[in-house]
Amino acid sequence: MAKIDTEEVSSKLRIKGIDLNRKAISITNFIGSKQEKDFLEPANCEGFGRVRNFKLSTSEGWPQNPLPILPAAKALGLTPDSQIRAQVFQNSVCNWRCWYCFVDFSLLKGDEKHSSFLTADQLIDLYLKEENPPSMIDLSGGQPDLTPEWVPWIMESLINKGLHEKIYLWSDDNLSNDYLWKYLTKEQIDMMLSYKLYSRVSCFKGIDEKSFSLNTKAEPDLFVNQFKLCRRLIDTGFDLYGYITLTAETNTDFKTAITRFLDLLQAENEMFPLRIVPLEVKMYNPLAPRMNPILEDMMKGQYDAIKIWEEEINKRFSEEQRHTAITEVQL
Ligand code: SF4
Repeated sequence: MAKIDTEEVSSKLRIKGIDLNRKAISITNFIGSKQEKDFLEPANCEGFGRVRNFKLSTSEGWPQNPLPILPAAKALGLTPDSQIRAQVFQNSVCNWRCWYCFVDFSLLKGDEKHSSFLTADQLIDLYLKEENPPSMIDLSGGQPDLTPEWVPWIMESLINKGLHEKIYLWSDDNLSNDYLWKYLTKEQIDMMLSYKLYSRVSCFKGIDEKSFSLNTKAEPDLFVNQFKLCRRLIDTGFDLYGYITLTAETNTDFKTAITRFLDLLQAENEMFPLRIVPLEVKMYNPLAPRMNPILEDMMKGQYDAIKIWEEEINKRFSEEQRHTAITEVQL
């Protein structure tokens, strides 16, 4: 199957995802989507938002997930709980097509049938109109960094409404482009860095070139690009965390692949593996029509991979380092 031309697709989707004149972002409306069937609570904010409970607990045998619970609690000055309620918004464009994505692919192409352009003020007003709005907002996707202006525009709106010390912001990205530095001004990046209640998470997709490409449908050589982009985000000064999806075929040499993955990552930042949380891929509604025997096998492979991942982390870091809270791991 033809691979995605990430550069070309990204630039086309950026055009579909942002209205620079209006300072508006194309936001997904969940009504009628397959993704909506997985929600525990109905979509809110007139269909443009949803409330998600992020939980520390995972499946039996899988490591706990402290993201974004610990960074949010730290920023908000709260004692961490076992879960956190967050208001989630999704931009409507993504340049990759991960088979395990819990978003319908029809919600990732800037399709006007499933999205509308909303300014930051419009989004925040919708959120404030909800009963008991959560004190955390997750700007998700899609790939938010195709339209990196989204985060500073939301910050501006929160600052203007006097809410910047009350609402924690969290945004995702898939380590696929350098748009943050290409399209934001120095002032916008400085504002993001000085916004106290903000952290970001970057998602590594796969453990080697082959699994990365099978997972995302992007060219395999973009696998190594993820490490450079991660380093650039750290060096820019963001409070950065990571996820990794470990889905790979069961005939993968997991030992070799994961050792190399961690070597490549530690060459950029020695401590960053301790800020990464492996994510278990599960069967969400939008996945069913995409599945085939190779993907079923990759789903199984993640359970072989997690054992090697944990072994390697145990070898590379002392017990004290491994038990340091994720927010206190110094990069
Ligand atoms: S990068 Fe994220 S939003 Fe895009 S397809 Fe993959 S999982 Fe879905």
